[in-house]
Amino acid sequence: MEKDILLGKTLNELTEIVNKSGLPRFTAKQIADWLYKKNISSIDEMSNLSKKARELLSQNFDLGFIDHSNVQTSKDGTKKYLFPANGGNFIETAYIPDETRNTLCISTQVGCKMGCSFCMTGKQGFQSNLSSGEIINQIKNFPESDTLTNIVYMGMGEPFDNIDEVMKSLEILTSDWGFAMSPKRITVSSIGIIPAMKRFLAESNCHLAISLHTPFDDDRREIMPIQKVYPIKNVIDELKNWNWSGQRRISFEYIMFKGLNDQQRHLDELAFLLKDLNCRINLIHFHPIPKTDLKGTDYHQMEVFRDALTRKGIITTIRRSRGKDIFAACGLLSTKEIVKNKSKK
Ligand code: SF4
Repeated sequence: MEKDILLGKTLNELTEIVNKSGLPRFTAKQIADWLYKKNISSIDEMSNLSKKARELLSQNFDLGFIDHSNVQTSKDGTKKYLFPANGGNFIETAYIPDETRNTLCISTQVGCKMGCSFCMTGKQGFQSNLSSGEIINQIKNFPESDTLTNIVYMGMGEPFDNIDEVMKSLEILTSDWGFAMSPKRITVSSIGIIPAMKRFLAESNCHLAISLHTPFDDDRREIMPIQKVYPIKNVIDELKNWNWSGQRRISFEYIMFKGLNDQQRHLDELAFLLKDLNCRINLIHFHPIPKTDLKGTDYHQMEVFRDALTRKGIITTIRRSRGKDIFAACGLLSTKEIVKNKSKK
């Protein structure tokens, strides 16, 4: 019988496991400590558990840590880790050290079914959802793990298309019995799947980033098929009507494509759409990927766009590109690795 995995289990799930095994209830909290606060490589190293408890657990469970299979380091210090996933596939996790923060960009799915035309992960198609254990493994199981200050769910896959596992991983990251991270240090990025977005807003206090990319319905349908199901205007209306409390932040990601979304009319419509919503916009330079005619707006035009939005009262920044020399655009490195592995067969 295949063993179950401990990594990625919530305290409630661990409690259920120890209850079923006839172990004392407090054992669940001890296991959570070993999984999320300490560094171990086998169940036998859980030294404050009884011998019987360790034996019982080892019979039925593995820890679930998966080592990375490859890493590339950029000239600017960015590292891209590849973790093996089922079916001979790979997921990407990017570590981005900076002067004041060290950010990890994690994946939530193997491939993606959303088909955005500018995205290499979308071109891979959908393979599978990651479990909460596979999501947490990216955070726990790499060399710089102890230096992390921020986590962004902006890697491969659409987090709100895997909402159950994503919510479990957020519970583990922000609970006292888990990583005890402040939700202010975690941002989840989505193209705007409204039902899952509402669940995320109701059940977590983490920041939200929405991929907007153009304010016009027809243009957005062309590059982001999700627009046919959840138009961006409806997403923004939901956000405007949400009962906000605390200090959580909403931002909009806006990749700039030459001629497609960088003109005056886009700027005016964006400002109109976001009127009365307390938010900010991150402008992102587009790095060309194979099999698309889309081109990136030049940096000078991006600055003009940023300044005009700022004058209209919207906090707007240009995100600095990191790790360009190691294929930092999400999905490029794993695609390369999959092609390499298939050509070996
Ligand atoms: Fe999926 Fe995000 Fe890529 Fe769209 S941009 S295809 S949602 S991974």
